[in-house]
Amino acid sequence: AWNFSAGPAALPEAVLERAQAELLEWNGSGASVMELSHRGKPFMALAAAAEARLRRLLGVPANYKVLFLQGGATQHFAQIPMNLAGPGDHADYIVTGHWGEKAVREAAPYIDARVAATSEAAHYLALPPRASWQLSPGAAYVHYTPNETIHGVEFHDVPDVGGVPLVADMSSNILSEPVDVSRFGLIYAGAQKNIGPSGLVVMVVRDDLLERAGRPMAKIFRYAEHAANDSMLNTPNTWGWYLAGLTFEWLEAQGGLAAMGARNALKAKTLYDAIDGSGGFYRSPVELASRSRMNVPFTLHDSMLDAAFLQESEAAGLLALKGHKAVGGMRASLYNAVPPEAVDVLVKFMRDFATRHG
Ligand code: PLP
Repeated sequence: AWNFSAGPAALPEAVLERAQAELLEWNGSGASVMELSHRGKPFMALAAAAEARLRRLLGVPANYKVLFLQGGATQHFAQIPMNLAGPGDHADYIVTGHWGEKAVREAAPYIDARVAATSEAAHYLALPPRASWQLSPGAAYVHYTPNETIHGVEFHDVPDVGGVPLVADMSSNILSEPVDVSRFGLIYAGAQKNIGPSGLVVMVVRDDLLERAGRPMAKIFRYAEHAANDSMLNTPNTWGWYLAGLTFEWLEAQGGLAAMGARNALKAKTLYDAIDGSGGFYRSPVELASRSRMNVPFTLHDSMLDAAFLQESEAAGLLALKGHKAVGGMRASLYNAVPPEAVDVLVKFMRDFATRHG
């Protein structure tokens, strides 16, 4: 079966097989990796190797820390303003879908979270034109969501926001193509799409932002404390960290992010071409220039066919194609672990379905 879930999403088969083979005993340690102390040398070495691989993959400059945190991306919607801004400060938010909306809402108890641009009026099916952005002077940071998982809109370049630190929720597009980390102040991502199991959060943050006073808070919320303790301020998600390391190793073996980027672009093109070339049987609701490579929502010309599409696709081994209720129809998520072959099978099924029901 091919899994098109938006998240938690498919992991590379090779990663799961390796984890299965090592489940009961890891690396001659006599125990499962889940049963090892995070303070012991073997796990510390594993953790450091995973970080080193991620740094290589993303090309993380020396003046950035890599953190392995918990709480899902949602917790960091709140924790980022707590750390990067003090009481009375304001920050700008570019809202291009569900997750950007949520980031503003969760920041609001801590700071003046201003919506500097939004595509709500376009039902989040197109990015807001750059000329419409109203960035405010003195903002502590600018937050945006490079890929909106539900609405299927994606930025295809990094926005220029002057000297203000750019904060990016890359939960659904991290590691999907090369990225210039130096353009960002802080990148964070829930792991459950392109990295590993849910709960784990990977963060890349520039050193000077860790020096910001933020507000009074418990140590456990302070990123600088996590950085000073190599993400082992308390017991980290060791299992998640281990799996993330396996995924990073797999990515390197695939040729790194340049190879992934090319593969992902091809997968997305194959699917969008099939939708656009279906003579109106299928339709992408998203504006051409804003279409996501990772999450592809599409509708059928007659929604009465939705149930049959889902039933027949599942029977054909094509899983989790039901769209989010905010957009309706179908959604195929094409993260790194979805091979081009899966998209070919999907496209063939879609053509057959259209012929049978057209
Ligand atoms: N941000 C984006 C872009 C997402 O797709 C998701 C969904 O998983 C989240 C944030 C929320 O992540 P979590 O459930 O890990 O808090």
